[in-house]
Amino acid sequence: MPRAGTIRDMNDAASRPRKPFLNYFRRSLKFVWPHRRYLFASFVAALGVMTFYTAGMGALYPILTAMMSDYETLPDSVYRKLANKRLGVTSQQDVPRDDKNDGIRVVRVRRNRNAPASPINDLDTITAVGDVTGNCYELHRAIVEHDGDTIALTIRSIDSDEDEATTQVTVALEPQPMYAPALIAVVDRIDFGSDPRGRLKGLAVVMGLFVTLSGLQLFCRFWQQYLVELTASRALMDLRTQGYAHVLQLPMDFFARRKTGETMTRFGQDTAVLLLGIRTIFGKAVREPLKAVGVLVAVLVVAGGPLLLIVLVTALPAAFLVRRFGRIIRRAQRRALEAWDGLLEMLQERIGAIRVVKGYTMERAERLRFFREHRRLLKNQLRVQRFDVATSPILEFLATAVVSGFVLYGGSLVFSGESEAEDFLYAVALLVALFDPLRKLSNVNNRLQQADAAATRIFDILDEPVETCTIQSPHATPLPRHRERIEFRNVSFRYPSRPDAPVLQNVNLTVEAGQTVAIVGPNGSGKTTLCAMLLRFYGPDEGAVLIDGHDIRDATLDSLRRQIGLVTQDTVIFTDTVAANIAYGQRHVDRDTVRKAAETAHADEFIAHLTSPPSQSRNGQPPATGYDAVIAANTLSGGQKQRLAIARALVRNPSILIFDEATSQIDPDSARKIHDAIRVVRRNRTAFVIAHHDRDILPEADQVVVMDAGRIVAVGRHEELLQTSALYKSLYEVQFRVAAPAGEAPDER
Ligand code: ADP
Repeated sequence: MPRAGTIRDMNDAASRPRKPFLNYFRRSLKFVWPHRRYLFASFVAALGVMTFYTAGMGALYPILTAMMSDYETLPDSVYRKLANKRLGVTSQQDVPRDDKNDGIRVVRVRRNRNAPASPINDLDTITAVGDVTGNCYELHRAIVEHDGDTIALTIRSIDSDEDEATTQVTVALEPQPMYAPALIAVVDRIDFGSDPRGRLKGLAVVMGLFVTLSGLQLFCRFWQQYLVELTASRALMDLRTQGYAHVLQLPMDFFARRKTGETMTRFGQDTAVLLLGIRTIFGKAVREPLKAVGVLVAVLVVAGGPLLLIVLVTALPAAFLVRRFGRIIRRAQRRALEAWDGLLEMLQERIGAIRVVKGYTMERAERLRFFREHRRLLKNQLRVQRFDVATSPILEFLATAVVSGFVLYGGSLVFSGESEAEDFLYAVALLVALFDPLRKLSNVNNRLQQADAAATRIFDILDEPVETCTIQSPHATPLPRHRERIEFRNVSFRYPSRPDAPVLQNVNLTVEAGQTVAIVGPNGSGKTTLCAMLLRFYGPDEGAVLIDGHDIRDATLDSLRRQIGLVTQDTVIFTDTVAANIAYGQRHVDRDTVRKAAETAHADEFIAHLTSPPSQSRNGQPPATGYDAVIAANTLSGGQKQRLAIARALVRNPSILIFDEATSQIDPDSARKIHDAIRVVRRNRTAFVIAHHDRDILPEADQVVVMDAGRIVAVGRHEELLQTSALYKSLYEVQFRVAAPAGEAPDER
């Protein structure tokens, strides 16, 4: 039976490789583009790596030659090979340099279908080239230096009865290979003689060359890697900065839907995984194939087609494996990142609420919960690692099997005399050198798949439409400073996350400029939501909010919110100086304005006693005090925070004030000071006060609005409402009496 599409199914479907390949990862590369000049430089460095790596492998050949032979020097062997190539034969190598050595002993004549039959036969000896006689070393040189298409040779055949019988033949010469003159010029310079000293000298030169080439290769590799790192890190910084700017512009609904931990993971873990992908694609994924190409060219020159065929045959199963593992890793990576979401969310919540955790002695339970969350993360991380770590060994095993097969094949050529041992050894070395970059490339796909999983999650947020698009008309204009009236006209609203529950229903309210409105009602009746409408944290589903006759949907968000001073119930204090906390949201505020605001908010008296924690003081200086003291939310009392928040609202000089009175325990003295502060602050401003406990505000308010279940059930002045609204009367008597300072009854005032 087909199952209903669960969230997990949908996630799995989403984790299937999308078309086009690595869609989101490729999108993230647009952040790399502005830094392309570094990438270009890194590519040049990668070309350097390729050149010096291949050249280094080239230097290996003479080393092998020099070490493997007893008599032949490197120049000797080069001349022998070139001469053999021209004659189309394989001659005996590493021949002793004694007097008896006369002529070139031909081991085998290479005959192919196209070449005319050569007058030279296997096991013949070439005793003279033109008029040049002597040992094989001299004759090889004579053949190489000969500049005609044919050459006259004196040959002694092994088949002739008489040992001394020779024949004169003319042999067609193949042209010199193109690289021959350069090669000859080089080896002639490192011809130090065939005695042990000379040969050691030759080896020393070659080793010096080898070391130099390796050094250059490593130097280029450093720059290549560093420049890629530079590019990737800068691109990531741009991505994070843009992401943060985007998150700040997302509508309130986003923050209700998404957990904070989830958003934080995307900035931390996801971007880190993405960084790895970017580093890989411009680092390894450029450098290693270039190295492989360089070696591949050398392989083709030395060993030709069969070797290439072997490499291709290996590539097929390897590609299948890489693809399969890539998919598994991608899925596991996504789950691991989701587990990070949960873990960070948990940490953030629990450490933020450490008082509750400790107060309810939940340490053990929380530890267990953390362990369980972490185990989920671990399981997925290990799955990523298992497949990632397995990729390379499996491919290496495949490569070993292939190299062994090749050794078998090459061995047969050597045994049958078709190939020379050193050439064969060199081909094996090249093959190993070819597999090294391929091995390093093996987990590139894994990294890219991981990065794509992370990029998918990052773009998930970056693709969320920002606030202005959802609720702002395209022709928004700045709102002039409010001076007439605020109107809620038939406003209805449901939270997008709970479309079945109406939170505001047909709310109508008119407030003249300068009035104070107290909003009361049971918990959940919609008081906060009503004020959120004014700030346009959400837009009404029906109806409109008008300020001085302007629908606020047509106003720019900035001009609207700048007019409103907001003091929320849970006052937010940022870890910064007192002055910066008060001036938050305003640029260029001088100290006097800050101080005046603090005085009006009755905050100056406790600010004077504030001191930075010792950890904040630098260079042994005494910790800052007063307005320069660094504060954090958990070092202030609820009443102090509220007063700072009032000062903060005041610095903006708002025309509208929204004050969500604190429900947390505030001592009577603080409460009175806050009340006094509000009384000053709301002078000449339109103020909305969500009253929870401050009964003093009610008689002072120009209007008291009573809300119940999303509706305004009564509006009027305090005294009227006591007579006309049963709900208000009961709220006033129960809620406000409980909160009244001991010894005072609400109606005694
Ligand atoms: P009050 O301020 O009067 O206590 P609120 O305006 O905060 O009431 O909430 C009104 C109703 O809306 C409540 O039932 C509350 O559960 C619901 N609510 C508040 N915020 C959200 C949200 N972000 N998503 C869904 N429902 C919400």
